[in-house]
Amino acid sequence: MSLQDKVAVVTGGSRGIGRAISLKLASLGAMVVVNYVSNSDAAKETVAAIEAEGGKAVAAKFDVADSSDVQSSFKQILADHDRIDILINNAGITRDGLVARMKDNAWDDVLNTNLKGAFNCIKAVSRPMMKQRWGRIVSITSVIGFAGNAGQANYAAAKAGMVGMTRSVARELATRGVTVNGVAPGYIDTDMTRDLPDEVKEKILGEIPMNSLGTSDDVAGAVAYLVSDDARYVTGHFIHVNGGMFMG
Ligand code: NDP
Repeated sequence: MSLQDKVAVVTGGSRGIGRAISLKLASLGAMVVVNYVSNSDAAKETVAAIEAEGGKAVAAKFDVADSSDVQSSFKQILADHDRIDILINNAGITRDGLVARMKDNAWDDVLNTNLKGAFNCIKAVSRPMMKQRWGRIVSITSVIGFAGNAGQANYAAAKAGMVGMTRSVARELATRGVTVNGVAPGYIDTDMTRDLPDEVKEKILGEIPMNSLGTSDDVAGAVAYLVSDDARYVTGHFIHVNGGMFMG
């Protein structure tokens, strides 16, 4: 599997799952644009880790939720690198709370970052990818988007929304050599899950047949398959990476 000469943009590529995806795609030969929104040190560290292994990467600060920021940033990426072959919609946040108490901004922030953010980026790459007649779009959704979870109505809605959007865009771009798929992780050991209370972690483990959290590399491996030529005929599909927690 080689991604030599491909240009990949990984949103939220600086930390956690996005970092592992950035490292994986770079190890396969892609030039990786590592996006972040606030923590420039993490982005610099990820770029340095890629370069230390002989790969190519640059950091790019933009807020996926801000459509004009996305538009101008992707324009710049295209100007700098000539093409965008791979988009990984990975940037995401949580603002958990029971629905009866959920504040409007907790709903809006999560929908704007996780769902509209993916829309903004897909919109920005769709024309260039159609022109190239080759493209790979992979969105990181979640087991929660399929199964639901008390306290995460906003997050589940955003992640389920990504499923419908992925399948729709897959149909729109299929004749142009552009595939659009998703990866749905279960519970992965990252900053997002590290602060969960121990009793919540115990409960989660009880629901996972493999009885352990996944790693960011587990998710990156599934992404690497979907962006490869081996997955040429796979579109509108979701790979579940969840230790058997949900078998949808
Ligand atoms: P982390 O919290 O570890 O990292 C989040 C990344 O997203 C950071 O790079 C962050 O940048 C970036 N980011 C956040 N908001 C924005 C924004 N508005 N614009 C651009 N970048 C942004 O998350 P994870 O690695 O755990 O999660 C990655 C994805 O995987 C998310 O979509 C998440 O929903 C999904 N997922 C995670 C699971 C898990 O168990 N961890 C399970 C299922 C799905 P910065 O550092 O600058 O803030």
